[in-house]
Amino acid sequence: KTCNRILRNMEASLTARDRVGIQDFVLLDAYTSESAFLDNLRKRFHENLIYTYIGTLLVSVNPYKDLDIYSKKQMDTYMGVNFFELPPHIYALADNVFRTMQSEFNNHFILISGESGSGKTEASKKILQFYAVSCPSTKLLNNVRDRLLLSNPVLEAFGNAKTLRNDNSSRFGKYMDIQFDHQGGAVGGHILSYLLEKSRVVHQNHGERNFHIFYQLVEGGEEDLLRWLGLERNCKHYSYLVQGDCAKVSSINDKSDWKTVRKALSVIEFSESDIEHLFGIIASVLHMGNIKFDTDSRGYAALSNNQEMHWVSKLLGIPNQVLQHGLTHRKIEAKTEEVFSPFSVDHAVFARDALAKAIYGRTFNWLVSKINESLANKDSSRKTVIGLLDIYGFEVFSVNSFEQFCINYCNEKLQQLFIQLTLKSEQEEYEVEGIEWEPVPYFNNKIICDLVEEKFRGIISLLDEECLRPGEATDLTFLEKMEEKMGGHPHFVTHKLADQKTRKTLERGDFRLLHYAGEVTYCVVGFLDKNNDLLYRYGKEVMRQSKNAIIRHCFPYSEPDTKKRPETVVTQFKNSLLGLAEILMSKEPWYVRCIKPNEAKQPAHFDDVLVRHQMKYLGLMEHLRVRRAGFAYRRKYDIFLQRWYKPLCPDTWPNWKGTAAEGVQRLVKHLGYKSDEYKMGRTKIFIRHPRTLFATEDSLQV
Ligand code: ATP
Ligand code: MG
Repeated sequence: KTCNRILRNMEASLTARDRVGIQDFVLLDAYTSESAFLDNLRKRFHENLIYTYIGTLLVSVNPYKDLDIYSKKQMDTYMGVNFFELPPHIYALADNVFRTMQSEFNNHFILISGESGSGKTEASKKILQFYAVSCPSTKLLNNVRDRLLLSNPVLEAFGNAKTLRNDNSSRFGKYMDIQFDHQGGAVGGHILSYLLEKSRVVHQNHGERNFHIFYQLVEGGEEDLLRWLGLERNCKHYSYLVQGDCAKVSSINDKSDWKTVRKALSVIEFSESDIEHLFGIIASVLHMGNIKFDTDSRGYAALSNNQEMHWVSKLLGIPNQVLQHGLTHRKIEAKTEEVFSPFSVDHAVFARDALAKAIYGRTFNWLVSKINESLANKDSSRKTVIGLLDIYGFEVFSVNSFEQFCINYCNEKLQQLFIQLTLKSEQEEYEVEGIEWEPVPYFNNKIICDLVEEKFRGIISLLDEECLRPGEATDLTFLEKMEEKMGGHPHFVTHKLADQKTRKTLERGDFRLLHYAGEVTYCVVGFLDKNNDLLYRYGKEVMRQSKNAIIRHCFPYSEPDTKKRPETVVTQFKNSLLGLAEILMSKEPWYVRCIKPNEAKQPAHFDDVLVRHQMKYLGLMEHLRVRRAGFAYRRKYDIFLQRWYKPLCPDTWPNWKGTAAEGVQRLVKHLGYKSDEYKMGRTKIFIRHPRTLFATEDSLQV
């Protein structure tokens, strides 16, 4: 039955192939040709067929328009149907992962990758919606389901922003576990967030915005609320909102988004007092940005207008005098006494911005933990999980800074994980199992990961080293150190060496990395400051006096002694990525590769050069070659025999006395597998096409 349906689907697609291309690149005749691959993607894209498989990997091209393919009806169509029976869809992948988890009772993750604006977040939302709608549910579970779904608009409001590349760009990395009970009901979830781009709170480049929530509050907040927060309904009034000069964006409706977020917060069980405190904080950040300093008669910073300070003081519940003193002084602890040293104006502005960033960043973490509380499942029975990883894509701007360096480093790490989990492990497995195999060459980006993160020698180590020499080190000494230590590295280019390696000049103060996804030139200015993320100790002390419950939670007394040097931003990030890799390594991987068809966010426009470039760095050709040459399915002999198929053969049923391998051999002979359809390894059977297995499953059901 199933097999026939699969064949019918294949036949239908083959008949239509001139017009709509083919559904699975594995079936492409000229499978080594990049042009044939590109032609197929383009053909399908113009027919609104945005999904194509490479075996079980899903390639998705952003349509930049709403397609009528995500209805409840579509979900039902894809639910519980074998992967290759229907045209490719994100729902088919979600369903396949779910059913594999159910039948094998193990954990999985779906890694969604692609550059900024390629559709990762949208894809992750579609998957979550599919699970929420189609998994078995009860009234109790409906609560969890709603909260899972509504965590998205909340996190997006606080963690996404308009950038030049994407009007709703995720400025934090997100990994979300969805937990299922043994009946397949979604019973809980847990979110991990990675490195929020806090610098956006105080600075935005031209054409970019601050985080959505600020505009939502100012545009959509109820009259009473704004009055209570001391806010004007005019984004232009706030210096933290005007730098990008684009408060209004046609694709974004801040007013209606505000309503969604407000509603979501109550469903996720934020109390009225939480909500009050939360918006008190958002408003106080806006007021803080408007605080200006003058130079007093002694040349130190003095507040030029008390009005904004009044609001910050009220909203954070910190006495005005204390706050003022905290923003204009630093505390120096001498042996027996405390001495306060006044700031210059520049220093005060720096301290104000640092505090605003810290407040926002910590509030974001609080928000995530609060959502996690509401998603937590307290029942201790064993659950299986599907993890969804939606993390910022590879990013290149005309000026790239510390943030892009971290984001692109993260992408290198994920590519490395992909290599280890698929390209490398797949080939190693054939070798270990003694299966004949023509090795497929691929570029291993480990060399770039090492360049960035190697202990004592990598860029991160050098940066941290410079951060340990306050007063002496500058961004330029950091650059010089890199030039000295890494000058000879094939993926590192500096000013001095630029012409020889890439024939493109570099400004003094820049360095260039040849990432697996392409070259990126980084401007070194600000690296040390951003990595130190210095928040004056006195500023923290002042925050601890707050009456705002969230702030008190975010600046606890128990914070490790600040005399000890806190970990730098990049080192914290590196460690969190190591933790993530560990989480992922223990699960079975699935992949969605997102492609951006053009830079103009336009529907129906397919830019060949841009897409070809992404195909290359997403490793699609390599993946296809490995898949083509390889085996889609493999299982240990004993599992294949005992857990699954032994009832299908009179020799192996009910009890098989010989070795598992011999049993499997008998079984497949009996089932009539052809010799090129499978291979017997040392410990596992390898099956080339999924349809062979589907046919076997069908016989099991008959
Ligand atoms: P970033 O790395 O910047 O967060 P991203 O890969 O998460 O980028 P998305 O925010 O998912 O990108 O997508 C960008 C925009 O593209 C969306 O806001 C939406 O307008 C459009 N888009 C993406 N996927 C789809 C889709 N499947 N159908 C319709 N529009 C889409
Ligand atoms: Mg995103």
